[in-house]
Amino acid sequence: MTAPFNFSAGPAMLPRAVLERAQEELRSWRGSGISVMEISHRDPAFMQMAFQAEQDLRDLMAIPQNYQVLFMHGGGRGQFSAVPQNIAAPNATVDYLNCGIWSDFAIREAQKYVAKVNVVAGVIDTDQGRAIAPANSWQVSEDAAYFHYCPNETVDGLALHQIPSHIKAPLVADMSSTILSEPLAVEQFGIIYAGAQKNIGPSGFAIAIVREDLLGHAQGSTSTIMDYTVQAQDRSMYNTPNTWAWYLSGLVFEWLKEQGGVAAMGAINQQKADLLYRYIDSSAFYSNPVHPDYRSKMNVPFLLADSALDGKFLQLAEAQGLLGLKGHRFVGGMRASIYNAMPLEGVQALVSFMQEFEQKHT
Ligand SMILES: *Cc1c(COP(=O)(O)O)cnc(C)c1O
Repeated sequence: MTAPFNFSAGPAMLPRAVLERAQEELRSWRGSGISVMEISHRDPAFMQMAFQAEQDLRDLMAIPQNYQVLFMHGGGRGQFSAVPQNIAAPNATVDYLNCGIWSDFAIREAQKYVAKVNVVAGVIDTDQGRAIAPANSWQVSEDAAYFHYCPNETVDGLALHQIPSHIKAPLVADMSSTILSEPLAVEQFGIIYAGAQKNIGPSGFAIAIVREDLLGHAQGSTSTIMDYTVQAQDRSMYNTPNTWAWYLSGLVFEWLKEQGGVAAMGAINQQKADLLYRYIDSSAFYSNPVHPDYRSKMNVPFLLADSALDGKFLQLAEAQGLLGLKGHRFVGGMRASIYNAMPLEGVQALVSFMQEFEQKHT
């Protein structure tokens, strides 16, 4: 067995080079004799590192100057409440596209903070599998404070690949499982947010990219640490940030730059997804339930024709160093998460294993 390949949906695999660098620097960060976790966040060396991480993210995503980049607490779900509290009044109407499990959680959280959460459309079944209702059928509100959607539903393996740029309200996107996986037109969005543990770094940490004209409207009851305006003024250091997560995320951004940035990642990610879907589609033993136009490039769920073999599949996969393939507890089956840190060799190893398993059991 070579290095194990970790297909966990999140917390997910980190680039090996990043872990090695963190290990090297763990006990003495930049020659200080202490670790980065033991330094004040106000220390000039820490602040320099933190702001460089922000700059690297800005470079990678080509984030325009009129957006604030915030390093927040509370992971992806923390943003489910931060968004309505920060940019909608309590009596507002907000629009949500319901593409799957994470959209659904976001909707239920928004209902606590705004009077009307309008669900514009949802998932539909088609002859070719599950899909998202076509945009011309969406019941969009006239006066929505924002339009929220999740471009990549991590559990369902369902993605909306086109930005719904026809929507007039500011677009808010939960990119927890797709951020940095391919080039993106940031200027089309009002807010992009992501929990860090899929494509960036440690869990409990989140990044919010907020267009400046949306600041200054937080509801009075908003918790100060979740207030975008306060965090923007204080450069995400209103209280002690998660310094370890910020540092590791910075190492991932550096690594991404070395790989050639998001364009290069996008090309590899496409190759990885094509390889896996092509094999699944060619086999009668495995299946993917999603319409080809709506398939996620990051999370590939698949079912075995005989679910009685699931346990055996997982056990043998693990023995070969293919980890974290069990599907989400809500949907069962298998799921291979193939974020930026997963090399092409990992997907090749998975496909070979799937072929062997199929041959043995048909
Ligand atoms: C994982 C995930 C979340 C939840 O993130 P937490 O950090 O656990 O709160 C939210 N949205 C999407 C799309 C996710 O994949």
